[in-house]
Amino acid sequence: MFDTLSDRLTSVLQNLRGKGRLSDADIDATCREIRIALLEADVALPVVKSFIAGIKERAKGSEVSQALNPAQQVVKIVNEELVNILGGETRRLNLAKNPPTVIMLAGLQGAGKTTLAGKLAKWLRGQGHAPLLVACDLQRPNAVTQLQVVGERAGVTVFAPEPGNGVGDPVDVARRGIEEARRAQHDVVVVDTAGRLGVDEEMMRQAADIRTAVQPDEVLFVVDAMIGQDAVTTAEAFRDGVGFTGVVLTKLDGDARGGAALSVREVTGQPIMFASNGEKLEDFDVFHPDRMASRILG
Ligand code: GDP
Repeated sequence: MFDTLSDRLTSVLQNLRGKGRLSDADIDATCREIRIALLEADVALPVVKSFIAGIKERAKGSEVSQALNPAQQVVKIVNEELVNILGGETRRLNLAKNPPTVIMLAGLQGAGKTTLAGKLAKWLRGQGHAPLLVACDLQRPNAVTQLQVVGERAGVTVFAPEPGNGVGDPVDVARRGIEEARRAQHDVVVVDTAGRLGVDEEMMRQAADIRTAVQPDEVLFVVDAMIGQDAVTTAEAFRDGVGFTGVVLTKLDGDARGGAALSVREVTGQPIMFASNGEKLEDFDVFHPDRMASRILG
């Protein structure tokens, strides 16, 4: 995912090696190169601007360390600023004081929500929870069956509307799913919702209605990192239309340039909580800003 960006940043920073004191001109030149690398990686312009401003200010300021040479100091600053735009601390899942914890998934069709529901359920099981998956994507043909398949693979129960009951009302299914979780003592409920191929008012309304009805502890916006700048505009649309408390980046295994990953936190103000990097249930992990920054800096 970040190969090109990573190569570019590494070589920019390598150019500083062996220099004694860094002049303001050295720092300006380095920042210019970093700016180009970020823009080429599809990072949103306002994010690039604040990132560069942060680096410049700190690199030119009086951050002096006896232990590091000037080049190492710049690398350290770039690393810390990367961690910052990726969200700083790892954000843990917010668990309800009175279970079940309700986690709602929202995002465009094809973003990877249903796959993620299975991954999250498997991960939750590994953390000692007893999750229930609730199938509220009643729009896409096969979405319910697909959730049942991933649920089975993950070894978790799926609550779905009874077949033959017509299309059904997703808000009603969500409510009944949570009742079922209480009854059968599941401590976490993951609600899969319908997406559309593009941002769509009806989809937003439906997701917002589910949110209002079940008051989830977390609303996770699931976004395909391969869609580049569109990830940012889609995130803004979901923030305004539904609202969310965290982001899940999917398809980090793709060869996209990584700009989405670097922009979405800063633009929406919500943390990236999980990352998915493949089609298998195991290709999933908690998102750690510091580890991602280290990966980018090689
Ligand atoms: P939904 O419409 O949001 O529920 O999306 P799906 O879960 O059906 O996923 C859409 C497609 O993306 C499927 O073919 C998934 O196998 C694939 N997919 C999901 N997550 C990942 C991922 O992290 N990496 C890759 N390469 N493919 C993924």
